[in-house]
Amino acid sequence: MSSRIRVSFEFFPPKTEEMEKTLWEAVGRLAPLTPNFVSVTYGAGGSTRERTHATVKRILSETALTPAAHLTCVAATRAEVDDVVRSYREAGVRHIVALRGDPTGGVGEKYAPHPGGYSNAADLVAGIKRIADIEVSVSAYPEKHPDSPTVEADIDMLKAKVDAGATRAITQFFFENERYFRYLDAVRARGIHIPVVPGILPVQNFKQTRNFAERCGASVPRWLAERFDGLDDDVATRKLIAAAVAAEQVLGLVRQGVTDFHFYTMNRADLVYAVCHLLGLRPVAKQAA
Ligand code: FAD
Repeated sequence: MSSRIRVSFEFFPPKTEEMEKTLWEAVGRLAPLTPNFVSVTYGAGGSTRERTHATVKRILSETALTPAAHLTCVAATRAEVDDVVRSYREAGVRHIVALRGDPTGGVGEKYAPHPGGYSNAADLVAGIKRIADIEVSVSAYPEKHPDSPTVEADIDMLKAKVDAGATRAITQFFFENERYFRYLDAVRARGIHIPVVPGILPVQNFKQTRNFAERCGASVPRWLAERFDGLDDDVATRKLIAAAVAAEQVLGLVRQGVTDFHFYTMNRADLVYAVCHLLGLRPVAKQAA
């Protein structure tokens, strides 16, 4: 199975020294699985952005991994965003995950583009492509983005991003595979043929996942809540259940022909490593030994 399977891992830039340690432990553990790429998220605000740059640059200088730097249009002029693209290009970054981003006041507020900034994610993709011949991935929402009035409008935005030069979509996380396949059918029917890679979120913490899902429009099925019911204070069992749930999901996707997976690692390696092992991936150094 493993020869067909390709994975990518998403990390977020650490805020504290302790989080930094956790991140690099996770990177070190997952790197031998030779992911297709590893991506680093991007936040609003100068210091968060600096942390993304620093993390991407460290991946480039200290590992053999291929980084993909996330970039948003939020609270920045075109010139500022363009400078970031150029600095990535000069550092050797060859892949950007281009996003509109969330309003600075948080999810739920109405999004307003920065005056003088890129107006949306498709506009940003076009801007990146004008500056550099960089691979661009974008987001996709099997359950519709909360700002989008309809699934059709959402898919129109995906089409605009592809027309602007995006060559891969990575989905928001979801728990019911049928939703992904239904969405994929609609995307293909709209004439979009780029890979739509499922984003997989192993549930490290159910309460946190549910809160996050509420904000980004992903549904949490009742069966999932039932599986984690009563385990708030039982970390060990929670972890086993989380591994079982993620395993069931990815193996279900593989059975229906999916070969590429993007894991939201939350900067933790253990669950993702286990699921990748189940997918047949093995650390390259060990294989050679
Ligand atoms: P788009 O694809 O541009 O839009 C999504 C939908 O909303 C489209 O249907 C569009 O038509 C509709 N829409 C957009 N704007 C409006 C509007 N003003 N009025 C009506 N409808 C509108 N966020 C970060 O801050 N940093 C990250 O690093 C990051 N990484 C992500 C990675 C992935 C794989 C995913 C799936 C999401 C990520 N996000 C990140 C979250 C993302 O920024 C938010 O979901 C944001 O709200 C939308 O950005 P987008 O590029 O996905 O939106």
